[in-house]
Amino acid sequence: MIERAPIRQLQGELVDQIAAGEVVERPASLVKELIENSLDAGATRIDVDIEAGGAQLVRVLDNGAGIPADELALAIARHATSKIVTVEDLAAIETLGFRGEALPSIASVSRLKLISRPKAVEHAMGLSVEGGRVGELTPAALAAGTLVEVRDLFFNTPARRKFLRAESTETGHILRLIQRYALLRFDVAFRLRQGSKTLIDVPVAASSEAQRQRIGLIMGRDFIEAALPIDMRSGSVRLWGWLGQPEAARTSSDQQYWYVNGRAVRDKLLGSALRLGYRDVLYHGRQPACLLYLELEPRSVDVNAHPQKLELRFRDSRQVHDFVMRAVQRALAVPAGEAAPTARNTSWLPQVHQGGLDWRELSVADSPINSLMSRAESAPSPSESSVSELSASRPAVGELADGALGQAIAQVHGIYILAQRADGLIIVDAHAAHERVIYERLKRDWGQDPAQQRLLTPEVVEIALHENDLFLSHQADFAQAGFEIDVLAPGRLAVRAVPALLARESAGSLVRDVLQSLQSEQGSHHLDTAAHGLLGNIACRSAIHGGRKLTLVEMNALLREMEATERAGHCNHGRPTWALVTLSQLDRLFLRGR
Ligand code: ADP
Ligand code: MG
Repeated sequence: MIERAPIRQLQGELVDQIAAGEVVERPASLVKELIENSLDAGATRIDVDIEAGGAQLVRVLDNGAGIPADELALAIARHATSKIVTVEDLAAIETLGFRGEALPSIASVSRLKLISRPKAVEHAMGLSVEGGRVGELTPAALAAGTLVEVRDLFFNTPARRKFLRAESTETGHILRLIQRYALLRFDVAFRLRQGSKTLIDVPVAASSEAQRQRIGLIMGRDFIEAALPIDMRSGSVRLWGWLGQPEAARTSSDQQYWYVNGRAVRDKLLGSALRLGYRDVLYHGRQPACLLYLELEPRSVDVNAHPQKLELRFRDSRQVHDFVMRAVQRALAVPAGEAAPTARNTSWLPQVHQGGLDWRELSVADSPINSLMSRAESAPSPSESSVSELSASRPAVGELADGALGQAIAQVHGIYILAQRADGLIIVDAHAAHERVIYERLKRDWGQDPAQQRLLTPEVVEIALHENDLFLSHQADFAQAGFEIDVLAPGRLAVRAVPALLARESAGSLVRDVLQSLQSEQGSHHLDTAAHGLLGNIACRSAIHGGRKLTLVEMNALLREMEATERAGHCNHGRPTWALVTLSQLDRLFLRGR
């Protein structure tokens, strides 16, 4: 028998320690609270020093507004905040903190020192707290601003202390945290040091060049040099920032930086919208890099949903999801010729060892960023209700300057098309490019009663019995795409018509190939993307394959189709479809002065 104890009110210190469990999970979470306090106080410089991954010491110094001496004790009292007064304020919260819980929680599980001096005051005052017990107010020395020093985290809660990871792990969390803020607040200088080692030190970045430099420092120069800018609005919602090139995608989402109304977040809904936006240009399971800022009315997002405020609750999550997905799709759908893939892979270029040539430098030439930026802004806001409608409203065929991909001159190994353009040599992966062209056309025609080519005699296809069910589940999709296929008997199909754009030798083997790929991919597609999966397979299976000899007329036809196709810069799997070698790159290759 368990003996029941009477109900008692918890002691204040214990309450704080329990609350601390939510606020202070690890050193990085207390650094987060302290940085947010500094930002809320209007600081333009935040210096963080840590020892032993923050377990021994976290010291945050800022040049913000400071705390008047007579409020220091209140600052570390529970539920004491200067940031909200009424319940109504909660709905339109604009500061990062508001619970009045951080300082008392941290103080209850550490030895904390708080020193502060508002600008107008001559001397700083300080206060020490140990395990929740507040010491005397004493004069201290400090320039205008606030210093919070947290020593011996969890010294009085050994159970929690055990959960701290290796020093390097905790340091890593703190560094990433500060990097996240640095990508949000370009108007603030950040520094993190561990002992005598400086882990990050970035000055205020006022100009856009300085901002790009900061982004490059944190996310890699490759990212910012090749990234596609995005800036889309719909009503009061705006999404802007940079999207990583599909071919630079990674296996984890660690290079995805999201900010909503000035808060760093990791939100599942936004992550899913991003992936769907990249769906057509990314291999399944790959994660794009991004730096994205979503702005919407404070009242349409609830930041109270999660104590660490990483997950959000949107008032209209469906709408936000669709907006983000379409905005990303649209930003990626820059037709070939506009998004010159200059900053792409140059590893295929011949290696040159003389003269200290730097190929990376070559690839940065005429960066398309600026022209893209203006294009993104002038794009109509994506308010359509379905993907197919979006495709219908894309720029009309022929809007691009004709010949952006040059004139075909040769084919290499049955794989690459070489084309000549005024400023250099274009190289096209014929299969990848053709696949994209077909895929975009299939999507455009989807369900629009596409032109069909009737076969003189139906082609009979034998398929495995288990593929029969698979076919049945896709029969309607095949029809929407322009196929006419009947089941003669289980495992025996009759192909009577194919979409006209696929006119090719063997309709039967196309259908069989597509079913086979669908079979091997089963379950990997989200229900509403099943149709896209089918179209992608059809495109891949019917695109010209390596080894096929093309005539100049065929090659030029493909180049012209690419110029008129959205997303023509990448195949469905995210590989680039073409690249440019400029004349000056060729000249340098041969050490020819111009
Ligand atoms: P909250 O941030 O939720 O208000 P905190 O416990 O983090 O609660 O901080 C309590 C109060 O202390 C804040 O409302 C603010 O007035 C003051 N404060 C804390 N840190 C700073 C700082 N670095 N600069 C100025 N004021 C601060
Ligand atoms: Mg706070």
